Amino acid sequence: MLEFPFAEVPAAGELIQVAEGVHWLRMPLPMALDHINLYLIEDEDGWWVIDSGMDVGPTRDHWEQIFEHHLQGKPVKAVVATHWHPDHTGLAGWLCDRWRVPFYATQGEYLTGLVFFRASSDDFGWTNEQHQLRSGRGQAGIESSRKNMGGMRHITHPLPTSYRRLEEGTRLTIKGRTWRVVIGKGHSPEHACLYCESLNVLISGDQVIPRITSNISVSGHEPEGNPLKAWLASLEHFLEVLPADALVLPAHNTPFFGLHARLRYLIEHHEDHLIALEEACLAQPSSAVELLPVLFQRELDEQHIGLAVGECIAHLNYLYHRGQLERHVDEQGCFRYRSVDDTLPLRLRKQRHRAETSEPIQV
Ligand SMILES: [Zn+2]
Repeated sequence: MLEFPFAEVPAAGELIQVAEGVHWLRMPLPMALDHINLYLIEDEDGWWVIDSGMDVGPTRDHWEQIFEHHLQGKPVKAVVATHWHPDHTGLAGWLCDRWRVPFYATQGEYLTGLVFFRASSDDFGWTNEQHQLRSGRGQAGIESSRKNMGGMRHITHPLPTSYRRLEEGTRLTIKGRTWRVVIGKGHSPEHACLYCESLNVLISGDQVIPRITSNISVSGHEPEGNPLKAWLASLEHFLEVLPADALVLPAHNTPFFGLHARLRYLIEHHEDHLIALEEACLAQPSSAVELLPVLFQRELDEQHIGLAVGECIAHLNYLYHRGQLERHVDEQGCFRYRSVDDTLPLRLRKQRHRAETSEPIQV
């Protein structure tokens, strides 16, 4: 069971203290997920900013309001990115230039961000086209992902021109307290979370979110990738190295207690999706697009369909690389997947028995 200790969320340009020296703020996002949570950690001689918001609408004005009213006369001294996605790094370059301060990120996130933020539709090549055909989205998928390839320039300020590298186990000392970097993979290449043992607080970014599941996607730049394998291994890693009773400060929704319950729920959620896909591919060989209703019961709009197909392929690649699905290319150039693991009927019976006899994990 998850607990949410804060009844209110921060108003625009305001802070809520969530632990000693740790403050929560929110910035708007122009999409269905309409906010991102950012955090400020107070040091003796300045403030550490954890994630920065997108470079859209009033976000810079909200930052200015915070600088003016809430920094208690101290400057920003460092900017940290949990990962490269534009809602997390869209204003990192602006913040670092404005305060002339260093930018902290993992190598995987910094370099990936540099590449993607500079990409334009001209970088959309035949392999990207082929990936869309293989998924079953056809010409509509090709057009929409070609357009998306240049779409991040409008919502991001260029990244800082240098960075300081975070790695698993890197320790940052902030006002005498140690914050340890814990790396997660699968949602993004090398996502940094920050854990402070003396406060028992985890800043979790998009790695652990209480009410939504992070997107785990295969896209055209790495069509044979297996991010779900990395994601599941990361969830296990977090169960091992982080305590169950930490206060979790996520990038979306609100701070919560119940870290281990949430991690176990996420593992179970993907295991359910994997076995449901295997079952669907037993009935008839199917494409990723045809399999979307197995994973997503809701209607998908244009904004979400690309992410949904990417997530579906992440599950299909996981099963394919484990030899539980095989695939062939049909006459439209589309992969059709078929279940080949003869232990599937037995596993399905066991899963149904478990579902009937045990309580689902409550979240
Ligand atoms: Zn993200």
